[in-house]
Amino acid sequence: MQEILTLDEIERLATRVLLANGCDKANADALTRNIVAAERDGSKSHGLFRLPGYVASLRSEKVNGAADPLARRVSAAHVEVDGDGGFAPVALERGIPLLADAAEEQGVAAMTIRDTYHFAALWPETEALTERNLAAIACVNYAAVVAPFGGRQPLFGTNPISFAWPRPGKDPVVFDMATAAMAQGEIQVAARDGDEVPIGTGLDRDGNETTDPGEVLSGVQLPFGGHKGSAIALMVELLAAGATGEFFSTEAAADIGDGGPPRGGEFVIALSPERLAGKAWVERCERFFASFLDVDGARLPGAGRHRLRAQSGGRMVSSIVLEQIRKLSP
Ligand code: NDP
Repeated sequence: MQEILTLDEIERLATRVLLANGCDKANADALTRNIVAAERDGSKSHGLFRLPGYVASLRSEKVNGAADPLARRVSAAHVEVDGDGGFAPVALERGIPLLADAAEEQGVAAMTIRDTYHFAALWPETEALTERNLAAIACVNYAAVVAPFGGRQPLFGTNPISFAWPRPGKDPVVFDMATAAMAQGEIQVAARDGDEVPIGTGLDRDGNETTDPGEVLSGVQLPFGGHKGSAIALMVELLAAGATGEFFSTEAAADIGDGGPPRGGEFVIALSPERLAGKAWVERCERFFASFLDVDGARLPGAGRHRLRAQSGGRMVSSIVLEQIRKLSP
């Protein structure tokens, strides 16, 4: 069962629930912008669906709903954000303008975020940097729920990575994907809706392949693409934890008992194609994109989400999610 809500209704609902559960206005507004953008673009597993988890972490007092993150440029090409124990959106909104300034000046710059809780999609941060004609890569780790290739014990998080490339005057190219065969949110949605998941998504508690999402959630998830996805998940651990000084997924594992996200870090790199390749970059890349789009059957990543974004009117929201959320505020 689904209900249709306008984006304004989604915004009012998310704001009301967050303010009633311990967020101050700045944090509630940043989180709500993130949730509305996810619902607008069809990122179903990272919009309102995440609100009960956000509230659980506020109620358990694990997350600081009044976080006042400090973003500062610690060197010409490095922006550091202390998240003050809050959810990621407010930390990102403060850090991204400084990162963009640094990348425009230096050609390449990195941002490390510490003491934060990321429970959202990553495309909002990479896509925001394309608005300044910068390319970007972002990644976060999670709690250990994914086995490395060849193993059966959880070690990696679902470890998403997003990449975005600007196209002046056009929608950017953006991919954003878990390095697990399936994002955990998608497995939770499948379990909720009584759907099966493909073989290769994960193993049950005894290490057997299964299509039952509930069995995967109580067993272990697997990386996408065998040893190749496993290598990328390893890289995400090293960038999001090793390069930020934050928890590896193995260290964060005990932190998700309340149903919300674990404490962790985020690593974002931004680069200026113009500074690196010169003014001809737009024309050259557009010629390449034209060749890409000539390939019958292929579409650019991000185009699916941007098509949904362009739709006017309300968005379908699961009645089960709405029933849960409406109980969370007066
Ligand atoms: P999907 O498999 O749904 O999509 C991955 C990417 O592939 C998207 O960018 C999508 O673009 C693109 N894509 C899909 N189909 C095609 C196609 N036919 N041709 C070209 N490109 C295509 O993503 P996941 O399920 O792996 O991840 C979902 C979300 O979960 C992500 O936003 C991720 O950030 C989030 N996540 C967050 C975590 C956290 O801890 N915060 C942990 C794990 C995941 P398009 O959008 O245009 O379809």
